[in-house]
This record gives sequence, structure tokens and C-alpha cells, in this order.
Amino acid sequence: MTILDHWVNGATFSGESSRTAPVYNPATGETTKEVRLATTTDVEAAVAAASAAYPAWSTASWAKRQQVLFAFREILNARREEVAAILTNEHGKVTADALGEIARGLEVVEFATAMPHLAKGEYTENASTGVDVYSVRQPLGVVGIISPFNFPAMVPLWFFPIALAAGNAVVLKPSEKDPSAAVKLAELLQEAGLPDGVFNVVHGDKEAVDAILDHPDIASISFVGSTPIAKYVYERGTATGKRVQALGGAKNHMLVLPDADLDLVADSAVNAGFGSAGERCMAISVVVAVEPVADELIAKIAERMAGLKVGDGTRSCDMGPLITREHRDKVAGYLDTAEKDGVEIVVDGRGIEVDGDANGFWLGPTLLDKVPTSSAVYQDEIFGPVLSVVRVATYEEGLALINGSRYGNGTAIFTNDGGAARRFQREVTVGMVGINVPIPVPVGYYSFGGWKDSLFGDTKAYGPDAVHFFTRQKAITQRWLDPSHGGVDLGFPRNG
Ligand code: NAD
Repeated sequence: MTILDHWVNGATFSGESSRTAPVYNPATGETTKEVRLATTTDVEAAVAAASAAYPAWSTASWAKRQQVLFAFREILNARREEVAAILTNEHGKVTADALGEIARGLEVVEFATAMPHLAKGEYTENASTGVDVYSVRQPLGVVGIISPFNFPAMVPLWFFPIALAAGNAVVLKPSEKDPSAAVKLAELLQEAGLPDGVFNVVHGDKEAVDAILDHPDIASISFVGSTPIAKYVYERGTATGKRVQALGGAKNHMLVLPDADLDLVADSAVNAGFGSAGERCMAISVVVAVEPVADELIAKIAERMAGLKVGDGTRSCDMGPLITREHRDKVAGYLDTAEKDGVEIVVDGRGIEVDGDANGFWLGPTLLDKVPTSSAVYQDEIFGPVLSVVRVATYEEGLALINGSRYGNGTAIFTNDGGAARRFQREVTVGMVGINVPIPVPVGYYSFGGWKDSLFGDTKAYGPDAVHFFTRQKAITQRWLDPSHGGVDLGFPRNG
């Protein structure tokens, strides 16, 4: 069995660990390789490589760093199908979706190529007589990135292009469930001319994460994953004085007003509910239908679901398998809960016919109606192809439901009433809002992140927030002596 190694100092690195974890092809259920699980010592080796590479990289000119990012952009774009194949093989998402993930990651690389402009400081001449004040932004040092399974390329790409452009060195710990894309990205960075040691990948589980969180030479943590782990990472990382941004889970609602275009709503609900088998943090999980539209809308959604093809992502399918057998069984378990809680199962994804190996981790698209908000089906982040419908009588009732959720990642309103949409934008307590757009992932020059239990820390991913996160601002006050200097004065400096 092939063993996937870490990537340290520009080369594969086995480290000392004898622990490994299986990596599956979710469409066949086969174990395709084993991935090493780093020990604390292995993490220390990666951090040492990054620390050694940091001084030269952080003092290289902006132009030099930009050249590497421009080259990386071209290489990743040219080789996107190779990377997409890795994503489909280990994650299961269909090829078109994998290519979409890479395209969204490339947006961040493109944004990062503008870093010399984005990180410019300010200058005030004569803030006081003969005194100038200016600011610069400098890199943090070695930064840690810990990413989830559902976007093995895009989530690391949310962070490292900006971190690198700013002059930081990186230690990335990708999900152990689909770890190969991270190593491929490391190889492409090397091809683009990134000096060895500036970007390192350590594979692992809790032991590796804890070693990163506790390491004194790591300046910041960018984490994306489930809410309990995000909270843990935030608390443990900040306890050791690190700058931490920890993006957590989600339960995204789509509010449908009676005046909405129900065909657009049905298309959007199906796309956002079942794309990537519902394993997206911006997936729509709950359709909140303001009556009297629910019956008509459910019929339209079910009609579209009947045409969805589930199967091996390398074939022409709409939706692939779930990430592991355990996860598939956990998601299917929610359908048993739904039955107990009196939910109406409109479309049942269990036992679906698939275009793929019978041993794959399959669960078909599922539609649930009249889901009580007390049910775990409504409360929990299911992270699978399960779309729930909750019926409400008014806009206010729908809004209260959304604002009552512990999560606040994404939401959408569908309506033809501009006033209602404007009111929703103002009143909803969610970090990313779509108006007649079901998956409102901001473009690369805005920032991505939720509110409440969907983000711990005050800084979102990519965009302007990332420029701030991966740099430290320094303010300088300078005076050059001239004949008018005033001699000794022990008073507190005042501007004059
Ligand atoms: P996860 O929380 O299980 O894992 C995320 C990372 O944490 C992985 O690298 C994993 O190895 C590590 N980890 C797992 N258990 C740990 C533990 N006990 N201690 C320390 N580290 C641990 O998440 P996942 O299942 O890989 O990804 C799916 C989750 O990520 C969903 O909840 C989804 O909503 C969330 N997500 C959020 C966003 C966002 O932007 N808010 C984006 C993508 C995914």
C-alpha cells in the first residue's frame, strides 16, 4: 500500500511516526493509500524548516514574491484537471465541481498577486511640525493552516496565497481524509519557484493539530472545520497568544417569499442542496417556505430531483458519494430520526440506484417536509444530501427562525420585492447573504466568513480581511533634525 508522506523543506518527509490512516476512493469504497499521521516531533521538523526559510522569504522583494505567485497561478490553471482528478478520487465530488473548486481557489491567487498594492502603508507629512508619521505592514512569521475534507484544494487556497505573498512561511495540515491535493499544491508551488521550506505540509489528526496549536514559533492559525473543533482550536490557539481565525460549521436557510419565482427557487434549492452531495459549508439545508407556496415548491423540487444522476464523479453524474462509510451512515441515520419525529419523507435517498460501484459510500438526494424545529434533523449540521422544508406563515416567522440558529454562515432570500430583500439584508444575523442567489460565496476581493458559531475570531478568510490577518501593522513617527528643533522639553509629546 502506498504511504503518503509529509512535505517538508521542499521534499517528501516520512518523519518518525508509525501511525497511518486509510484514504478511500469514496466511489468504490477501496482504500487507495495510507497517509502518515504526524507526531509532535514531525510537526516540529516542519516548523523548523519554515522558520529557517522565513528570513530570506520575508525580506525578498515584493516583486520576487509576486513573480512566484504569478507563475503558480499559471501552473495551477494549466494543471487544474490533474488536481481535479485527485479531488474526485479522494473526495468523490464530480469533475465539474472539482474544477469549480479550483477556479474559486485561483481567484484568491489572483487577488494575492496584488499584495504589494494591498499591503501598502500610509504616510502623513508634517503630522506635527517637522514630524512625519507612516505605517508599514510586515509578515507574522510562520503561519499554520488546518483545513477540512470538503474542499481539499480551495480551503488551503483561501489562505496560503495571501500568507505567502505577505512574506510568511506556511505549515499546512490538510484533512487526513483527502490529503493528496495539499501535497500536489506544494509541488506546484515549488515548480513556480517558491524556495524550499517556505511551504510545508504535515498530515495528521488531533496530535498534529495540538502540536501546531501549542508550538511557540507559529504566529497564527487559520482553521476551517466543524464548530466544536473550531471552538477548541480558537480557545487553545489564543491561549498560547496566537492570532486565530477559526471558521466553523453551518446550517444555511433559504427564505422563500410567496412572490418569488418558484422555478428559480426550485433550481437553486436543488443546486445548493445537493451539489457536492451537500458537503459544502454553504450548502442550503433548510428551505423556509412562507405559505402558501410550500406545496407547489416541493412538487417542483421533487420533479427536478428525479432527474439527478448519482454516481462515480469521473462519469457524467450530478452528484458523487459521501466522504466515508461512517459519514454516510451518520447522514442516513438522520432519516431514521426524521421518521421517528413525524417528518414527511418526500424523496428518500436510501437505496438509490447509482452509476458506480456498489461498495461506494452512496446516499441519494433526500427531501423532507414539515420538519419540526425541535428535531435533530433541523438542529444539527447534517452535511449530506438532505434538504429540509420548514413551513412558516410570515416573513417575520421565517426571519426569527434563521436568527434563532446557532449558526450564521450563509443564507438566501428569494423574492421579487426589493424592499423585503433590503429589509432581510439588514435584519438577518448571518455573515453571507444571497438575494436570489443560493450560495453567496463572496468573490476573491471580498472576505468569506460567517457569524455566531460559524466563525470564532473577528477576521474572515481571504480578501481584505486576510491582508490584515497575515500582516502586522507598524506605525513609525520620524523627525530629522533641522535648525528649528526646540531643545529639552519633558512634557508629553503633543502635536503642534
Ligand atoms: P473537522 O472539524 O472534522 O476537521 C477539520 C480539521 O480538524 C481537519 O484537519 C481534522 O484533521 C482536524 N480535526 C478533526 N478532529 C480533531 C480534533 N479532535 N482535534 C483537533 N483537530 C481535529 O471537519 P471536516 O469534517 O473535515 O469538515 C467538515 C466541516 O467543516 C463541516 O462542519 C463544515 O461546515 C465545515 N466547513 C466550514 C467552512 C466555513 O467556511 N465555515 C468551510 C468548509 C467546511
